[in-house]
Amino acid sequence: MDINDVKLNTIGVVGAGTMGNGIAQVFATSGFAVTLVDISQQALDRGVVSIGSSLDRMIKKEIINDDDKSAALSSISCSTSIAALASAEFVVEAVTENPEVKFSIFREVDNVCPENTILASNTSSISLTRLAAQTSRPEKVIGMHFMNPVPVMKLVEVIRALQTAGQTCDTTVQLTQALGKTPVLANDSPGFVSNRILIPMINEAIFALHEGVATPESIDEIMKLGMNHPLGPLALADLIGLDVVLSVLRVLQNGMGDPKFRPCPLLVQMVDAKRLGRKTGVGFYQYD
Ligand code: NAD
Repeated sequence: MDINDVKLNTIGVVGAGTMGNGIAQVFATSGFAVTLVDISQQALDRGVVSIGSSLDRMIKKEIINDDDKSAALSSISCSTSIAALASAEFVVEAVTENPEVKFSIFREVDNVCPENTILASNTSSISLTRLAAQTSRPEKVIGMHFMNPVPVMKLVEVIRALQTAGQTCDTTVQLTQALGKTPVLANDSPGFVSNRILIPMINEAIFALHEGVATPESIDEIMKLGMNHPLGPLALADLIGLDVVLSVLRVLQNGMGDPKFRPCPLLVQMVDAKRLGRKTGVGFYQYD
């Protein structure tokens, strides 16, 4: 496919967790070949199962048919080696929200991929400028922040690092549109726009629970009915993953130096107890 005069056929996705498998799915259903990489074979297996179930839901809603599902699944190849990205023309990284892990992935991907390949990160909060500085192509590094669940949510927050070239930005915007999504631009800053506003709200909801102001159900109901939010903040935290929420708060706290971003002690405890929300079966609520 020609995007902004750049040939993009093969897309690399690094990380097959909550976000990576959704990102792989939307590229595959939009006609791209996808190479999905994760250090864990189990995560890749789980990712493919989850893509299959998500495509089944789309068949039920008559958005796609059985042939579309087969075509999408057969255009995704999986690997536990970054070397599999040697022919990727655009890469989206979606690994654990940890700066050191992401820095090392960016150095590896930079070594393996062709020199023209754009390297995008789905990070929720980590500095794109610092990620770009890990590579020999900082002008080709950009933030491509998909929302959860990826196949459903229209927004992609596109974040320019200090070094990002205009052409990289244009290609990423057009690629986002080719996925049927809406790109909105932001500059690099802790938490960008979405998580600078959303994550402190979730943290405040956890403080309200911690201080016994109301039950989880009441907090969520008040925010749903009162503010017209489709999901209450505690249910949303469970969907995002409490470890991701805590990591973003730490980036906001360190990056902004303002105590208003201090994580609620209950959030820290829940992450220590591995009550991470949907992905571990228990968070503020229980999941089957
Ligand atoms: P997750 O924990 O569900 O998945 C992370 C995956 O990365 C795991 O499968 C893990 O095996 C893999 N991984 C870890 N180290 C790796 C390495 N060195 N090489 C290859 N794979 C590796 O996390 P997630 O929720 O999918 O988050 C991924 C990224 O997306 C994070 O940067 C997060 O901040 C961002 N994000 C998350 C959400 C959300 O709602 N969860 C929304 C937007 C953005």
